Amino acid sequence: MESTLRRTWAEIDLDAVEHNYRTLRAHVGQNVKFLGVVKADSYGHGCVPISHLLEELGADYLAVSSIDEAVELRVNGITLPILILGYTPADQVGNLIDYRITQAVTSPEAARAYSAEAVRHGGELTVHMKVDTGMSRVGFLCQGQHFEQAVADIAEACRLPGLRVEGIFTHFAVSDEPDKEESVAYTRGQLELFRRTIAAVEEKWGQKFALHHCANTGATALWPDAWMDMVRPGLLLYGCGEFAAQLGLKPVMRLKTSVSIIKTYDPGTTVSYGRMFKADRTTRMGVVPYGYADGFFRTLSNRCQMMTADGPAPQRGRICMDMCMIDLTDLPNVKEGDEVEIFGEHISVNDVAALAGTISYEITCAVSKRVKRVYLRHGQVVGSELMLRF
Ligand SMILES: *Cc1c(COP(=O)(O)O)cnc(C)c1O
Repeated sequence: MESTLRRTWAEIDLDAVEHNYRTLRAHVGQNVKFLGVVKADSYGHGCVPISHLLEELGADYLAVSSIDEAVELRVNGITLPILILGYTPADQVGNLIDYRITQAVTSPEAARAYSAEAVRHGGELTVHMKVDTGMSRVGFLCQGQHFEQAVADIAEACRLPGLRVEGIFTHFAVSDEPDKEESVAYTRGQLELFRRTIAAVEEKWGQKFALHHCANTGATALWPDAWMDMVRPGLLLYGCGEFAAQLGLKPVMRLKTSVSIIKTYDPGTTVSYGRMFKADRTTRMGVVPYGYADGFFRTLSNRCQMMTADGPAPQRGRICMDMCMIDLTDLPNVKEGDEVEIFGEHISVNDVAALAGTISYEITCAVSKRVKRVYLRHGQVVGSELMLRF
């Protein structure tokens, strides 16, 4: 069943993804492979269509956060190599091998458990060693006094049976802060430590990793030294954030709604829960079917705006679960049924994020399953998804 009745939707511009991919490929050059990060349903953009497009465009690798996300791609026909960036329980190794999924190895214990399970299952698990150079999340801890132990542990993990060791990677904590001297120094330190770890492990192991990679969005944009064999951006692909604009990338998501009802209130009327907005004049108020259950941030109540064909309409009163109100008093031509942009072309997702005190990642990830995704290619609608259990 197709439902467009609620009239809030996210347009996913696949032409923008293609433009961003080609621009990034040109930016890093021919000799650097490209891994597209498509975790969290491609940051809310829809991982299946995005991954199919990346595969068609010639990307080398995809990455997700969990085995569920990886299997979702396989079941939907994606054949590119897929790296799971996070931890997977060892009892899933059989599935990883059968689905040809690459697993990050984040500790000596995990390495031994994956090896034992792979041998038991009969097959080889492709792995990338994850090195913690200062993010302090997952990976072999190799800072300071831990260096020698990390090198010994990683080299030992590389020799375990049942593991096909393909890559080694690390993750930056502040590669996206070029204006802070301390952050630049920290990133340089992480990169140096990563290089030293690679050299020491390869020496001890007696082999070289095929893929060394560490460049997330910040490093892909700003740190050519960090590109190595493969870049690993997420946000840039979706055209969000400050570096996307600097590199000439285009925002992929346009979140839209429509005016369902317009009412005119007398001066003194209060609007919505908490009565935080009070009309000081005769006020023409539109209701739009977009609330916090759709991914709107309630903290933006009474202090953001949406774009109509005639200009910006201030949002008024508390944002509700399923609706909110916009002031159309100064936009007399806007009528019921008209389209309204929440963010996209005229209102930048970066500005919405800044206003909400967060980052654009959180805004696109928050667009909930109730919001239909409409995919556009060459300007035409080529598909749509609404994740409800009809
Ligand atoms: C999410 C993630 C990325 C992509 O980060 P962006 O900032 O979106 O480019 C890369 N590597 C790892 C390990 C990640 O978790």
